[in-house]
Amino acid sequence: MKSYRKEVWFNVPTRRAFINITPKVEECLIESGIKEGLILVNAMHITASVFINDDEPGLHHDYDVWLEKLAPHQPVSQYHHNAGEDNADAHMKRQIMGREVMVAVTNGKLDFGTWEQIFYGEFDGKREKRVLIKIIGE
Ligand code: ZN
Repeated sequence: MKSYRKEVWFNVPTRRAFINITPKVEECLIESGIKEGLILVNAMHITASVFINDDEPGLHHDYDVWLEKLAPHQPVSQYHHNAGEDNADAHMKRQIMGREVMVAVTNGKLDFGTWEQIFYGEFDGKREKRVLIKIIGE
């Protein structure tokens, strides 16, 4: 069995963003040489997510509005976690959108359902963060 590991870094200029990282994951898969197996992609920070959904800007806008309703950033004083910081909402948004995804690798390709793409979700940006890509198989 082969094993491949890579950390991919992000520095998002805004507080929140959704970035399609599918091309990056595909690059890693080619680099790994693995044709049959599993790929795990996870955020290595507790205020960022990795999730799978549609690459459609309207939907991403809707996610942002929905998450702001569930866990508004302001007023920051509403959260106990924010004694000394201001990112309680980002922890909650990450919890809802998820930590990681797993995708099957078949014939050297990501074995996606229709319209599925992998996204990095940032909820407390403007700093360096990373995503782990781990691929196992043969
Ligand atoms: Zn925090």
